[in-house]
Amino acid sequence: MWTPVTIPMSIAPYPWADPFTWTARFSYRLTDNSLDLKVKVFFKGATDKQVTKWEKVIERIWSDKAALTDGDTVLPISLNLVSVSKAKKADHKVKVIQRDGYGTGIDKWFAKHLDNKTVAHEFGHMIGAPDEYEWGATIQVREGTLMAGADTRTKIIMPDYFDVLASAVGASWSPVDLEL
Ligand SMILES: [Zn+2]
Repeated sequence: MWTPVTIPMSIAPYPWADPFTWTARFSYRLTDNSLDLKVKVFFKGATDKQVTKWEKVIERIWSDKAALTDGDTVLPISLNLVSVSKAKKADHKVKVIQRDGYGTGIDKWFAKHLDNKTVAHEFGHMIGAPDEYEWGATIQVREGTLMAGADTRTKIIMPDYFDVLASAVGASWSPVDLEL
C-alpha cells in the first residue's frame, strides 16, 4: 500500500527575509526489506531523451544511499522516479526551458547545459531536503554535500535529507547512512 505525503516547507534562514516556501510531495511503501520511495514528476517541455536521462541520474544518486531504522529493522530507501505525462497526476511539475538561463529551481529547469548535480539537487527539494549553502533555503550550512551544491563524485547524500520521509513514516523511525 502506497501512502501519499504532502508537507508544506517554510524555511527562513534570516529573520529579516521572507521564508523560502515549497511543498514536499511523494509517496512511500514499507516492504519487509526496503522503504520504497516514489516521486511522480511531470517534466513539461522536456524531450524523451532528457526525461530518461534525468530519471537515471536521480535514481543513481539518491537510491540506496541511506536507510530508515527504528533501532531494530534497517530498511534501505529505494527510489523510483516516475515521469508522468499529466500535471494532475504528478507530485511535482517542472517547467523545462530549452536554453541556458539563471534561476533553475525546484519547478523550473533551464535545460540546455543542466548538469547532473543540479538535477539531483533540485530533486532533493521535492522530498523536503533544504539547501546547505548560505543564502539558500538553509537550516544548516555544510560543505561537500549535494544540497550545498557539490558535484556527484563524492559522498554527497546525507541521511538527514530523508528527515521529512522519516517523520511521515513515524516518530520511531530515523534516517541513517547505508553502509554497503
Ligand atoms: Zn536548492
